[in-house]
Amino acid sequence: MSNTADAIRSADAHSAHNYHPLPVVVASAEGAWMTDVEGRRYLDMLAGYSALNFGHGNRRLIDAARAQLERVTLTSRAFHHDRFADFCTELAALCGKEMVLPMNTGAEAVETAVKTARKWGYEVKGVPDGHAKIVVAADNFHGRTTTIVSFSTDHDARDHFGPYTPGFEIVPYGDLTALSHAVTENTVAVLLEPIQGEAGVLVPPAGYLQGVRELTRERNVLFLADEIQSGLGRTGKTFALEHEGVVPDMYILGKALGGGVVPVSAVVADRDVLGVFRPGEHGSTFGGNPLACAVALEVIAMLRSGEYQQRATELGDHLHHELNLLVGGGAVTAVRGRGLWAGVDIDPSRGTGREISEKLMGLGVLVKDTHGSTIRIAPPLVISKEDLDWGLDRLRSVLSA
Ligand SMILES: *Cc1c(COP(=O)(O)O)cnc(C)c1O
Repeated sequence: MSNTADAIRSADAHSAHNYHPLPVVVASAEGAWMTDVEGRRYLDMLAGYSALNFGHGNRRLIDAARAQLERVTLTSRAFHHDRFADFCTELAALCGKEMVLPMNTGAEAVETAVKTARKWGYEVKGVPDGHAKIVVAADNFHGRTTTIVSFSTDHDARDHFGPYTPGFEIVPYGDLTALSHAVTENTVAVLLEPIQGEAGVLVPPAGYLQGVRELTRERNVLFLADEIQSGLGRTGKTFALEHEGVVPDMYILGKALGGGVVPVSAVVADRDVLGVFRPGEHGSTFGGNPLACAVALEVIAMLRSGEYQQRATELGDHLHHELNLLVGGGAVTAVRGRGLWAGVDIDPSRGTGREISEKLMGLGVLVKDTHGSTIRIAPPLVISKEDLDWGLDRLRSVLSA
């Protein structure tokens, strides 16, 4: 459909309204730029919620995908295929862990983490069957399954989807004392985002994540790090936890692992944790398929060079420097984040996050609001400094209007 209004009308009529997209209809994209059906160009400052860390149409990723498309795309895990061992070996090495369990979407990886922790709790830690507890943080975002929304504190995400899965304890994010009180002998895991993305790119207080690491180690509880959005280069490190010198018991990965080409997710941990699974106890038809492994292997090779992490650091410093100059000027009340990732709180008198996003769209910049008056900025890590400055200019002009 080549007309914006027709395409939106038709989508509204025939798709469930579980999203409220900006009124732009993308037809093609390259690098940090997208082109709509009318030929207008937009700078992508969202990057598919960090699924597109390496940009649209990344040559290396497209070539890896195309080569694999011509060979074999799916075997199911009923058989081995020749990309699987390399994928698991390379991803484990990237994480400094021993084992990988591949899935497809982020939510599936989180579900896998929950199942692993419970099984580990019963079979290794010795928690009485059916009594395992997992401690999570308020304002978390871990996905959309019925179990995951059971421990969400977001009413839109949770309400009217019960009955809810029991076994979760919610504590305030960044509060080590509350976390310590919530951990009991039946606690099998603490599940956290190192930086809370959907909540508005919330960075916890210094020392918190180290405190979580020490506490979980002392109390024989697994630390499950949801690095689906924060990981794989976004913050300037391969993992956001590296900024704190923290190594979790399990990394939960997704989004950028599939290079914006295919959905690829995984949990990565040592043998004493992921070794709890035996044949038939967990799985996925598409998890670890040849196409997914081929693309993810290229993603891992790209991350191994360190070049994207370095770009995120350098461009991120620049982004945060420029954004911080806006704080206190009347339009921006706070800026948070790390690397090429920022949550910008707009003074409500300047409009809602949605209104700001729509105005930016009119100027050729695509961002996404989150929670009222916050906009989230997370361009592909391949964005040029000139393009980033171009986007920041447009943000400044929208905010000063
Ligand atoms: C996006 C996201 C998920 C869910 O991933 P899906 O692929 O959408 O299921 C889970 N956790 C975090 C931190 C995320 O950003």
